[in-house]
Amino acid sequence: MTKPESAGYDYDVVISGASLAGSAAAILLARRGVRVALLERRSDPDAYKVLCTHSITANAYPVLDEIGLIPALEEAGAVRNQSRLYTRWGWIEPRAAPGGPELPYAYNVRRSTLDPLIRSRAGDTPGVDLLLGHQVTGLLREAGRSSGVRVSTPQGEREIRARLVVGADGKDSAVAKYAGAPVRLHENARFGYLAQYRDLPLPGGIGHVWFLEPDMAYAFPNDDGVTVVAVLPDKKRLPAFRKDLEGSFSAFVRALPEAPPIDAAERISKLIGTVNYPLHSRKPTAPGVALIGDAALTADPLWGVGCGWALQSAHWLAAALAPAATGQGDLDRALAAYARKHWRRLRGHQYLAADFATARPFNPMERLMFSAAARDEAMARHTYLFASRLIGPLRFLNPVALARASAVNLRHRGGTVVPPEHLSHAGS
Ligand SMILES: Cc1cc2nc3c(=O)[nH]c(=O)nc-3n(C[C@H](O)[C@H](O)[C@H](O)COP(=O)(O)OP(=O)(O)OC[C@H]3O[C@@H](n4cnc5c(N)ncnc54)[C@H](O)[C@@H]3O)c2cc1C
Repeated sequence: MTKPESAGYDYDVVISGASLAGSAAAILLARRGVRVALLERRSDPDAYKVLCTHSITANAYPVLDEIGLIPALEEAGAVRNQSRLYTRWGWIEPRAAPGGPELPYAYNVRRSTLDPLIRSRAGDTPGVDLLLGHQVTGLLREAGRSSGVRVSTPQGEREIRARLVVGADGKDSAVAKYAGAPVRLHENARFGYLAQYRDLPLPGGIGHVWFLEPDMAYAFPNDDGVTVVAVLPDKKRLPAFRKDLEGSFSAFVRALPEAPPIDAAERISKLIGTVNYPLHSRKPTAPGVALIGDAALTADPLWGVGCGWALQSAHWLAAALAPAATGQGDLDRALAAYARKHWRRLRGHQYLAADFATARPFNPMERLMFSAAARDEAMARHTYLFASRLIGPLRFLNPVALARASAVNLRHRGGTVVPPEHLSHAGS
């Protein structure tokens, strides 16, 4: 175990949760000289998040790179993500500009590959003590702030004292709950089911996303030749869908435009899903506490952004808090800086996502941008940068982009519009 130096503290930072956000934060903090206890309630070092379609957006690439995971991911067969997006105006097909740089990417990689990889990387990082089978059951408090955690372990209860407690423990974060962090819930009017297949060819070998207004679906090729297929219909369909889950799922996928040929492929997983997955937005700090990943903000799964933001928020945390976490600086100011960054970078995305999670059809602005993206390569690239969370809503909807979208659509006035009703009987 790493020897604590600060009087009174066992560690500088104690992190609850050794999944993407927690493992990344542990590595990035320890590299900056912070002594970290990384606690994970599950005992199995190979444990992974099952409910995920694991397409990691390009905004996460620099973090994966800084952690040093890119060579291992490439070696594990992670697939560089590239997708086409179906809309009622046709397919949005983001491609590099002729003679231009390739589009930024990250990876589609199964969580059964990624989670053990990043966790073991954290455990091997000097300055990190990875403690499996350690479940946070409460916070220690001193002078009005958190000063560590109470933990249940296979050997019994223990307390771990630290200058900073980090909640990286997912959407139902125990740390957030014990810290009394205010949470805002946004209803998600869609439910979702997913399954994995082997030998499922997709046109171009790339990911597919279907915007069916209001229903959604996607298919992503992953490492080891596995393709994950997910459907996210409007909850109004749920009673009929539930009567025959398997049959409804297959019928829904078969009815997709340019449907993946699931009947000719091998299904290698059970059908898993969720019928209630509200979006969560929490204040990401409290005295002596910071929240990262889903603990701070749980996005709508349909955008496939949670993993990228888990990694990015870990990076923002380490950059803002590393010196103060070792006692060299004002911890409260550093926490405020982290909260500001989190708020600035993610608030706009979550605002739009919460509105779209009501399962409404596209609004006029989305109609303008997505129709233009289906008709114009530069608009397709611009849309890709937004979908990859490399730009925020303000840059996506900047005046030049809006003007270009309008000009593209003027040129296409009178073009064919595919009605979105083609799936109205699937699953019923
Ligand atoms: C259906 C679905 C599909 C999705 N698809 C995508 C996608 O394609 N792309 C994408 O980017 N995102 C996707 N997501 C979101 C993504 O799964 C999450 O955003 C991501 O896993 C968040 O990572 P995290 O590290 O913050 O939390 P988690 O991965 O949830 O990890 C939390 C960790 O904390 C541990 N823990 C919990 N409580 C305690 C405790 N008390 N003490 C100690 N440890 C504890 C847990 O065991 C776990 O290891 C999807 C989500 C869903 C539901």
